[in-house]
Amino acid sequence: MFQMELEEIVTTRPSYKSKSPYKKRKADKIQTDSVVFLDLNCLFRPFGYVNPSLRHVWFVKDICGIVCAVFTWLLVLYAEYVVMFVMLIHESSNISSFLHGLLFNLFAFLAIASHLRAMLTDPGAVPKGNATTEGIKHLGLKKGEVVFKCPKCISIKPDRAHHCSVCQRCIRKMDHHCPWVNNCVGENNQKYFVLFTLYICLISIHALYLAVSHFVSCVGRDWKGCSGLSPPATTIFLIFLIFEGMLFGIFTGIMFATQMSAVCSDETGIEQLKKEERERRSRWLSMKAVFGHPFSIRWFSPFATPMFLGSEKIYYSV
Ligand SMILES: [Zn+2]
Ligand SMILES: [Zn+2]
Repeated sequence: MFQMELEEIVTTRPSYKSKSPYKKRKADKIQTDSVVFLDLNCLFRPFGYVNPSLRHVWFVKDICGIVCAVFTWLLVLYAEYVVMFVMLIHESSNISSFLHGLLFNLFAFLAIASHLRAMLTDPGAVPKGNATTEGIKHLGLKKGEVVFKCPKCISIKPDRAHHCSVCQRCIRKMDHHCPWVNNCVGENNQKYFVLFTLYICLISIHALYLAVSHFVSCVGRDWKGCSGLSPPATTIFLIFLIFEGMLFGIFTGIMFATQMSAVCSDETGIEQLKKEERERRSRWLSMKAVFGHPFSIRWFSPFATPMFLGSEKIYYSV
């Protein structure tokens, strides 16, 4: 990032420009390859459902991120299998196992929904290559006013935006690029990321409690009617689940606490690292800015889109 006077930006040629048309095309290709926009209506069209908002869905083409995201779903699927088919289905108390199953499935569903929304929501990307002469003129800046320009994606950087090398563009209020959700965490999807860490932490603690109590109960009744599997197989399944629950419970718990602290202090992860000084909003205003509504049950729903989307569009949009 560099700072320059308006006159300088207007006259500066983007760094990737070359006299060779081939080189320019290659540079453009590299710049546009990182994100694709999917038409997810093809999944629902056979059922007669078409949603215009699913016509242009953000998706980052990063192999490492895709592997991590699929791995996340597999871990939830494993926990789901062990909780439902190794433990609860063999519990003696039907009401208790039904309630535990209901709670676990509800949080697992919300975790996956939050994950999908965090992954498939544009985190707040600034249009690439908008730092053109016309684009800057369009801002209507007065003489002497200063704007920021990203030399990597040739975009006009709004305040608090940072360049992501994986997404290959500047992201508004970028916190970090998370491979587990295969996306940047930024202004538009931080709510979904916070909910994802919360629900994964909750199902991890719940699975941990269920696995330990089931193991103790099995040992107490000498493995009689404990599960449909042999005692060694059941033990292995439970040990893996306990390990998974501990690991991800601690990891997502720390992540959730870090995110909430960042939200409350109105400071992104990058700003904390860079120790950037700026004016901050109050704790409550900052929370409302991320969750997008006055406090209600909608804060906890990955299906409730924050209201600021569409109203607080980018400041330097051209
Ligand atoms: Zn950039
Ligand atoms: Zn990114």
